[in-house]
Amino acid sequence: METMRHSAAHVMAEAVQRLFPEARFGIGPAIEDGFYYDFELPRTLVPEDLPTIEAKMREIIVANSPFVREEMDKAQALQLFSAQPYKLELIAELPDETVSIYRQGSFVDLCRGPHVESTGDIKSFKLTSIAGAYWRGDEKRAMLQRIYGVAFDTEAELEDYLARLGEASKRDHRKLGKELDLFSIHDEAGPGLVHWHPKGAVVRQVIEDFWKEEHRKRGYDIVYTPHIAKVNLWKTSGHWDFYRESLYSPMDVEGQEYIIKPMNCLGHILIYKTQLRSYRSLPLRWAELGTVYRYERSGVLHGLARVRGFTQDDAHIFCRPDQLESEVTEVVQLARFMLDTFGFHDYELLLSTRPDKYAGTIQVWEEATESLKKILERLEIDYTIDPGEGVFYGPKIDIKLRDALGRLWQGPTIQVDFNLPERFDVSYVGDDGAQHRVVMVHRTVLGSMERFMACLVEHYAGAFPVWLCPVQVVIIPIADRHLDYAHQLAGKVGECNIRVQVDDRPERMNLKIREAQLGKIPYMLVVGDKELDTCAVSLRLRTGEDLGSVPVAEFVNRAKSIIEARTADEL
Ligand SMILES: [Zn+2]
Ligand SMILES: [Zn+2]
Repeated sequence: METMRHSAAHVMAEAVQRLFPEARFGIGPAIEDGFYYDFELPRTLVPEDLPTIEAKMREIIVANSPFVREEMDKAQALQLFSAQPYKLELIAELPDETVSIYRQGSFVDLCRGPHVESTGDIKSFKLTSIAGAYWRGDEKRAMLQRIYGVAFDTEAELEDYLARLGEASKRDHRKLGKELDLFSIHDEAGPGLVHWHPKGAVVRQVIEDFWKEEHRKRGYDIVYTPHIAKVNLWKTSGHWDFYRESLYSPMDVEGQEYIIKPMNCLGHILIYKTQLRSYRSLPLRWAELGTVYRYERSGVLHGLARVRGFTQDDAHIFCRPDQLESEVTEVVQLARFMLDTFGFHDYELLLSTRPDKYAGTIQVWEEATESLKKILERLEIDYTIDPGEGVFYGPKIDIKLRDALGRLWQGPTIQVDFNLPERFDVSYVGDDGAQHRVVMVHRTVLGSMERFMACLVEHYAGAFPVWLCPVQVVIIPIADRHLDYAHQLAGKVGECNIRVQVDDRPERMNLKIREAQLGKIPYMLVVGDKELDTCAVSLRLRTGEDLGSVPVAEFVNRAKSIIEARTADEL
């Protein structure tokens, strides 16, 4: 499939070359579900260009020209691509003296291959979008135009994919975030910096309250630490050396350099070190909803899913080596409990191993990695190894959750760390009276509030489970004479910890119902003369169901039990 998709990229490049003979070519790899190619063109592409390029591609596919591989030495290749500056740059950087090229029809490309036999082997495809892309992802280099396409073996698979794509764009959290008035990001404030609106903030608070409660139950304490700290602290930790590309520049405070924190770990270490700790006082589990800032290129920022400032649902566990296994096991179980509660029942586990830039010795890394493997095996959890993706101070378990459309999201992460305790001399007094090094576990069970919110919005298409909804009940009076009853009713419902609003605008009832449905408010209570006389409400659900007249007490009880159970049931 990947070979076919890469071949489709070459065919697209040939089609573009036929339409724009002066085109210059960047790179054109296969990606998940499809392919792209980057071009420098004499004019900006518009969406209407895509069908024209597709039609040219079909001609090339019908011609069924073979993909032919050739090898040549670098000097010849430089000659062959003399009119293609981006290819020249790539050739110059190739380590080998011999390079390979592929030809099909009138097109030739610098390429390692492999390819399908001939253009006729390319099956169902579609060009999906156009985007700007800096050459080599570098904002200081030329901006090229990228065309994305998808390709599959059968027409049915392609149609299925396009249907999912349509559904995904309907669920896009950036679009729904605006429509549901959840959050915004402002050019004036800077990209990647999230402003939570009252409705988004309610959802976040409910998540945070639940999170705190579950952590207290499991023996965690809550701490708070500052947002900036002297740069020397980050030099001791190794962040300055190993994590520099994610840090913001230092700021000067009375001649001392401070940085804004990219992680919460060091504050917790400082708290730990305020006392001599005994083996009997361990483990210590300290949790913080800690806001951190990391540099990301503006080109990769994406709504709430990839940002520059975010709040981790962080915690650090300081434990003895003999406690590590049970601590990590409990964290894995807590993470699964949290995800299950939010309606994610399908996830994948990755075990990330030592990266190229790492602190500590290989032996310590191997021990830590082995202990994580052992824990996962004992829990009988399937996992895959993600080589080189650990953090600089230790290996980690990443849990990726699958949403309603089958897409994976980065969720909880659990990291075992022998390095920071070493660097900061974090120890305890053992039963032998001697000092021993603690082991640190860094972990989140949701990831970050921002990314988790994005995931929730897209998973539920904005219709959150009732317990998370910013507004759970809207009361809709039919006429002005029902206003008093509506407000009385709101008081009664509100007393039961249900979030309720009265829509007392002078608008028509049907419009109010439609807007409440668009706002994904689970329960609409319509009240008129009949309801006023019988102490009832006329109950409608956001799903469009009309349940007719229901006594107030019965509605309140049913709604309360749905909310308290934190289920995804409607009623
Ligand atoms: Zn190629
Ligand atoms: Zn940490």
